[in-house]
Amino acid sequence: MPSKTDQCKELSHYKGKYNRVWIPDAEHVWKSAEILTDFKSGDTVLEIQLEDGTELQYPLEGGEKLPPLRNPDILVGENDLTALSYLHEPAVLHNLKVRFVESKIIYTYCGIILVAVNPYKQLPIYGDAVIHAYAGQNMGDLDPHIFAVAEEAYKQMARNNKNQSIIVSGESGAGKTVSARYAMRYFAVVSKSGSKTRVEDKVLASNPITEAIGNAKTTRNDNSSRFGKYTEISFDKRYQIIGANMRTYLLEKSRVVFQSENERNYHIFYQLCACANQPEFKDLRLLGADRFNYTCLGGETEIEGVDDHADMAETRRTFSLLGLKDSFQADVFKVLAAILHLGNVKIKENGSEKSSIGSRDPHLSIFCELMGVSMDNMCRWLCHRRIVLSAETVVKPQPKERAINARDALAKHIYAHLFDWVIHKINQALMVPGKQHSFIGVLDIYGFETFDINSFEQFCINYANEKLQQQFNLHVFKLEQEEYMKEDIPWTLIDFYDNQPVIDLIEAKMGILDLLDEECLFPQGTDKNWLQKLYNFLGSNLHFEKPRMSNDSFVIQHFADKVEYQCKGFLEKNRDTLYEELVDIMRTSQFAVLADFFKEKESNSGQKIIKVTPAQPRVKASNKQLRTTVGDKFRSSLYLLMETLNATTPHYVRCIKPNEEKQPFEYDSKRVVQQLRACGVLETIRISAQSYPSR
Ligand code: ATP
Ligand code: MG
Repeated sequence: MPSKTDQCKELSHYKGKYNRVWIPDAEHVWKSAEILTDFKSGDTVLEIQLEDGTELQYPLEGGEKLPPLRNPDILVGENDLTALSYLHEPAVLHNLKVRFVESKIIYTYCGIILVAVNPYKQLPIYGDAVIHAYAGQNMGDLDPHIFAVAEEAYKQMARNNKNQSIIVSGESGAGKTVSARYAMRYFAVVSKSGSKTRVEDKVLASNPITEAIGNAKTTRNDNSSRFGKYTEISFDKRYQIIGANMRTYLLEKSRVVFQSENERNYHIFYQLCACANQPEFKDLRLLGADRFNYTCLGGETEIEGVDDHADMAETRRTFSLLGLKDSFQADVFKVLAAILHLGNVKIKENGSEKSSIGSRDPHLSIFCELMGVSMDNMCRWLCHRRIVLSAETVVKPQPKERAINARDALAKHIYAHLFDWVIHKINQALMVPGKQHSFIGVLDIYGFETFDINSFEQFCINYANEKLQQQFNLHVFKLEQEEYMKEDIPWTLIDFYDNQPVIDLIEAKMGILDLLDEECLFPQGTDKNWLQKLYNFLGSNLHFEKPRMSNDSFVIQHFADKVEYQCKGFLEKNRDTLYEELVDIMRTSQFAVLADFFKEKESNSGQKIIKVTPAQPRVKASNKQLRTTVGDKFRSSLYLLMETLNATTPHYVRCIKPNEEKQPFEYDSKRVVQQLRACGVLETIRISAQSYPSR
């Protein structure tokens, strides 16, 4: 938004031909109006006329609430929003709309950001010919495009000899994964040296596999990524692709055992079930997806327009293309089938305190056979726990609900290990020992989220987005600074938004995460106790609030919006524990892959836990009691991600979902403006509006 002085300067425009303004509107966010009378200082109302001819009085408060001015028509439709005379929310919203709805153009620059509005329609703008047209061109010379951003990163890598990253963000269904894929394809095509090996194809092949195991149908997106991913594409001295490496973030494990209505589990399960009758899967004793608990909780098991059977063939083809042999694939499918059978194990209630599993439960029996573990042990330790008292150890039966939780926790852990293992194998297949000259990283990560009920997952996602927003702010700030110095303009500190206080609230010493970890250490710790501590210790923090009407939640004022988080489940999700007894069974499995999944790892034993603060990593003293919690691990992985991003030249792509109904070229201004606020586009405009006039 323009500052007060800018607005005063603009007052003269409120007369004569520049008399068109935007006024707030409940339905369209902003609507166009014309000022009928000259504005004089001290006026309390403006006489205006709407486009439909209605005349009304627009109230003014001391000259500060003047409605934003409309841009001259000749500027509307500009490639770069920062070229507009008046740069504010309605101008951005209108310009994007005119381009998208009238001209069917989905890409627009906003300074250094590429805004991409999801067309929900295949467009003929991604062919190899288009890639070649963008190759070697300057960013401003051709129409805005994801290929132009990719080209810019490629060029800067070669010219400045510096690693690059493309940071793609946006909400679910906005088009992040599609954009990231196109960027990667761009590099594969431009760096191809005719006769070379198929390494480019291999790098691209990592996408369908990660999507099979990490994407699922949700109500918002039929192919929703349920994890974050940073893919580093490696180039040699001649800037040709030689390999890649992926890092993943926070897979949504709960989906393995539970899906909301109209959602599905991870695609790979359905692909496997669709091939139940194939002879090579006979030993897995597969059924249709509608007959496994873990694949039918959301109702419909099929997705319109998706052929799970054909996709399975594609998954296997890409595994093979990466050099991941049939035996490896067979192990993956075995683990997946075992998880499905585990979900069908029937746990019976024996009174309110006890539970049991039939000694011949067919699904548990298949699980044990596939996973090489003892049926007796599984029957016993799904329904009992060992309790260590001071003098003795007793075995305590578990009520049905607890036993089901134990079963589901086991399934989630096995899947998470499987996921990491597959990623690890892909990385090995794409590894380039010692030859990497430079890289371009592509980050495809969940955008800011706020739902009616927000929990630990949204908390982590929004925390990640605070970090990314800060990285962005600092980058813009640095660019501005360089610009000032280049043009020899006296350095004036522009007032840019710094979200360090919110980040501190979350990750600093005795912040929300620390207090959560502390509570997790107490065997009797509860969500409510933790919440009480938050109220006590953080109550006076400007970005933290206790809601007036609730004792079960807390509110964080994020850069994008206020979000209320329900405390229920935070402790359990942060601890993410699995009963020791079950872990022991897995460790002694005859199936080496499974035993390896649960092998005691250094960080899990509490021998050496690296905990990271924004300033520097801190090493915790060894403590048998301590385990890395999910929050702690996430904080460390974000620290490393920021370190990586900060050592590269960043390029930003903000994807926008234009409507809820997935309709081609439909533009819902309310939804768009929400996202423009949440992804920092409007924030950038505020910064630009302050600095551009001085150039
Ligand atoms: P999530 O956070 O749920 O993973 P996302 O931002 O990665 O969401 P995508 O899966 O990339 O969203 O896109 C959702 C759908 O939108 C795609 O499956 C595709 O149908 C459509 N889509 C996105 N971008 C484009 C595009 N550039 N052209 C055509 N269709 C697109
Ligand atoms: Mg995605």
